[in-house]
Amino acid sequence: MPRPIQADVDLAALRHNYLLARRRAARGGTAARAWAVVKANAYGHGLLRAATALGDVADGFALLDIDEAVRLRQAGIHQPILLLEGFFTAADLAACSEHGLSVVIHCLDQLQMLRQARLPRCPPIHLKLNSGMNRLGLVARQLPAAREHLAALACAGGAGGLTLMTHFAEADADGGEACIRWQLERFARMLDDWPQAAALPVSLANSAAILRYPATARDWVRPGIMLYGGSPFATEDAASLGLRPVMTLRSTILALQEIAAGERVGYGGTFVATRPTRVGIVACGYADGYPRHAPGGTPIVVGGQRTQTLGRVSMDMLACDLTDLPAAGVGSPVVLWGEGMPADEVATAAGTISYELFCALARRVPVRSVGEVAQESSRAGRAEGRE
Ligand SMILES: *Cc1c(COP(=O)(O)O)cnc(C)c1O
Repeated sequence: MPRPIQADVDLAALRHNYLLARRRAARGGTAARAWAVVKANAYGHGLLRAATALGDVADGFALLDIDEAVRLRQAGIHQPILLLEGFFTAADLAACSEHGLSVVIHCLDQLQMLRQARLPRCPPIHLKLNSGMNRLGLVARQLPAAREHLAALACAGGAGGLTLMTHFAEADADGGEACIRWQLERFARMLDDWPQAAALPVSLANSAAILRYPATARDWVRPGIMLYGGSPFATEDAASLGLRPVMTLRSTILALQEIAAGERVGYGGTFVATRPTRVGIVACGYADGYPRHAPGGTPIVVGGQRTQTLGRVSMDMLACDLTDLPAAGVGSPVVLWGEGMPADEVATAAGTISYELFCALARRVPVRSVGEVAQESSRAGRAEGRE
């Protein structure tokens, strides 16, 4: 028998969260289309699983790797697919053209490559402007050259579909509004000398911006973490945002230790019992993706009841306190995060964010899809999301 650990991925919840993202975005006044951001193996949930679950409801999928994009095409995904960092080499470009991939262009080198590639058909372009995040994107002084490249593209007499894009640095922060406003102003100012830009579609918002600043939801939005039921905010939990958890990491208690006051638990003996304590040993450790730096006291659910971890997380196991849960024992079900145990809470205790917990789920943990939705309701969902 395999170890009792397992991750359940709730496809119905994923679909719910996607449709919620699109409805929230519509609060901005325009019916924005939403890229389902499925980079990093759909934030650890499984690329094809996530893409299949969103089936025909998603307006498009956004990710990083060309290979992953091609896998989506081969799996029958017909929607637009956007490469969030664009192409890296000229060879990539041929694949983009062949598989009908849309590309982010964030630097002049990419435009040069595109111009030299002389493709029969230009991929749709998201031109990324650096409005203050200072990670990727063209700056104002590069725009004249960029426009010249775009105008000179051999394919289809210009860019085959051009969208302007930028990324917010502080949409998730309390008091991030000033930064958003500043970035929007800078974005607009960059386009001052480019009158035709006013007619181009725009993509600005990630999950945090969709939820907090729906006015930034323009033609396309780019929800990521909210699809997976994680809150982008430190001060607002996922449930209150209407999000449902998608990944539930489950295990069981595989051993029990009854210890006296004064005894210690685990490596380094960092937990010292102050009373007679029933210690449950859970089949889950850092080699499964549970954060090693989660300190003792991190919340955990055993037999449907909350308790806390004790001492250090080991590679394959961790300890929890069952003293006040007399019904719990060997074989009791454990939820590390997910249903009934918000991943955001565990992440906060471990000094990180739910993004990292999800992405770090280890390959050795079997993943199972649950909550599958029939194609019929998927069509209904589409109609619902469009309202
Ligand atoms: C990852 C990513 C997103 C999604 O961000 P979330 O915070 O997960 O919603 C959106 N846009 C870009 C460019 C990204 O790289």
